[in-house]
Amino acid sequence: MNVLVINAGSSSLKYQLFDMKTEKILAKGNCDRIGLDGHLKHTPVGNGKSVFDSDIHLPTHAEAISAVIEKLTSDDYGVIGSLSEINAVGHRTVHGGRKFFASALIDEDVIAVLEDCIRLAPLHIPANLMGINACRESMPAVPQVAVFDTSFHHTIPEEAYIYPIPYKYYEENDIRRYGFHGTSHRYVSALAIERLGGKAEGTKIITCHLGNGSSLAAIKDGKSIDTTMGVTPLEGVPMGTRCGSVDPSLVDIIAAIEGTAIKETMDVLNKKSGVLGIYGKSSDFRDIETAAGIDISDGSTKEKTDADHRAKLALDVFSYQVAKFIGSYIVTLGGLDALVFTAGIGENSPYIRKAICDRLSGIGVVINDEANAVRAVDFLDITGNGSKVKVFAIPTNEELVIARDTMEIIT
Ligand code: AMP
Repeated sequence: MNVLVINAGSSSLKYQLFDMKTEKILAKGNCDRIGLDGHLKHTPVGNGKSVFDSDIHLPTHAEAISAVIEKLTSDDYGVIGSLSEINAVGHRTVHGGRKFFASALIDEDVIAVLEDCIRLAPLHIPANLMGINACRESMPAVPQVAVFDTSFHHTIPEEAYIYPIPYKYYEENDIRRYGFHGTSHRYVSALAIERLGGKAEGTKIITCHLGNGSSLAAIKDGKSIDTTMGVTPLEGVPMGTRCGSVDPSLVDIIAAIEGTAIKETMDVLNKKSGVLGIYGKSSDFRDIETAAGIDISDGSTKEKTDADHRAKLALDVFSYQVAKFIGSYIVTLGGLDALVFTAGIGENSPYIRKAICDRLSGIGVVINDEANAVRAVDFLDITGNGSKVKVFAIPTNEELVIARDTMEIIT
């Protein structure tokens, strides 16, 4: 059985084809600049076929899917003989609203609910729908499954998901904390539970998905009981370009300063804030750490007289805020067994992991600096001697979770 996993953005479409017997990737790739000029990078894995990496006309997501199918089945770049070898498609779907607490086989009713969710995720759901519709058109006989970023967080209790605003917005407009990165929090917390002995009951874990978008989850007995992102991915810790939790009055204040309407003002908070806003030159942690005089290969600090203060400040604000949320989740969980780092920064930045953990020394978190000084290409245990909390860096695999859920639903 082969499952094609699709992650559609507004001008991009990432894919991975899994052989579910082995859970190995047969091919992966990325369509970029859809609707502009178009580029496809397609990589067959492990069968000796060539990589395709070239500009290609991609006016819509439908052409992108056709190009992907053509490459997956072609003589030169292919990994399967024909379309009939794709048994199902799993779609990363950002929002499931209040209707979806688990992955779902896509039919007209699911499409209608997703269309209704556009008001909650106007930046993401339209792109997801373009990917879903393109696949349904190109592969009408192949079952399509939606796997939601929000569903792992459906176990969050009312007291944590209700905003202290007029209750009618929840009742009538579905405004509540939803949380995102659910497939990632679910995947890495399951691996942490295995390492803690395999029984979810009684475990208290905080997972830190630190990437371009970042969120934390408090996970008790294997279930999410709180998470930092909210009704949208803007809330929580500072991110690459998003501000995270700030005084909501800033919307009004920035609008007055800039003389802009709400939409443009929200663009400042979504696209020009976070570490980019503080540092000013890049949202990429590799650039920021380098500018701050940090060796990104092992997280050590170099003697650098021209180290950029604002780069260092951006890193400090980030690690401070992440540590602050971890502290609050220790209260939520009533203790902590394991702290897990994942995603681009969590897996690859020894400096950030240490900067966060150093702020947690007062509650008994100690890491092993030598074990920490590498990228986590596999499960990495960086717990130090005498630590009261296990500290892990675990590569996430959201695509595999989507493929597994898709298999479960179609079989
Ligand atoms: P993601 O959204 O999970 O792909 O993560 C992207 C983020 O991970 C970007 O800010 C990258 O700069 C960051 N990242 C990737 N590799 C490294 C590294 N070696 N050191 C620090 N940050 C990294």
